[in-house]
Amino acid sequence: MTAMLEVRDLEVAYGKILAVKKISFSVDQGQVVSLIGTNGAGKTTTLRTISGLLRPSSGEVWFQGERIDTMPAHDIVARGLSHSPEGRRIFAKLSVEENLLLGAFARKDQGGIRTDLNAAYDLFPILGERRKQPAGTFSGGEQQMLAMGRAMMSRPKLMMLDEPSMGLSPIMMQRIMSTVTELQRQGTTILLVEQNAQAALKRADYGYVLEVGKIVLSGTGRDLLVNEDVRKAYLGED
Ligand code: ATP
Repeated sequence: MTAMLEVRDLEVAYGKILAVKKISFSVDQGQVVSLIGTNGAGKTTTLRTISGLLRPSSGEVWFQGERIDTMPAHDIVARGLSHSPEGRRIFAKLSVEENLLLGAFARKDQGGIRTDLNAAYDLFPILGERRKQPAGTFSGGEQQMLAMGRAMMSRPKLMMLDEPSMGLSPIMMQRIMSTVTELQRQGTTILLVEQNAQAALKRADYGYVLEVGKIVLSGTGRDLLVNEDVRKAYLGED
């Protein structure tokens, strides 16, 4: 079987700074794959390149048998690859529902959009209760739910989540992470980027460790969780 998403020898630069240095990894259909690493490792750069917001200086990205690294971002979303960005990036003045509908901008099937809006409200009831409220009044955790709900609205086959646990209380983080498992159960494939290695690896079928732009280690989530180097560097153990 070929992978659903395949990143081959990807290199991304900001001017002279090489942020991502020839990384290769893949995500199979139905999997949760985690990409972990500390600040500045290149995680966000990798996701932004996959979604077409940045162009690689070399390498390739393939999604469902098509090369996507030369496509505009809206064509990539329309093919079923969505991105819930770091720091939420919700529209503060727009209502919750308006924010969600922005996630469906590439779609024309009004009936399906309504169904998916209700699915987002089922998954995160608070979004339904406050659908008319300006999104800027939401707490960090609620904004995270909104960002994930918005990413769901393009009916993605593969969803990329950039640090969904950032800045959340442990309880809120648990909720967001159990939603990742629920989305996987519903058939969505997930690429999860996290600094919180423990939370991300616990749920991952497979994981990659990124350090200053390079993949230094990979393995099943379980193997990485017990790996001594990972434990020392990312799980705060001596
Ligand atoms: P974080 O968790 O802190 O967001 P990250 O792993 O997502 O880290 P990136 O944001 O991808 O890391 O950054 C990778 C490297 O590229 C860093 O050295 C960063 O300073 C640099 N970088 C990121 N964005 C830019 C930019 N717009 N211009 C120049 N350098 C950048």
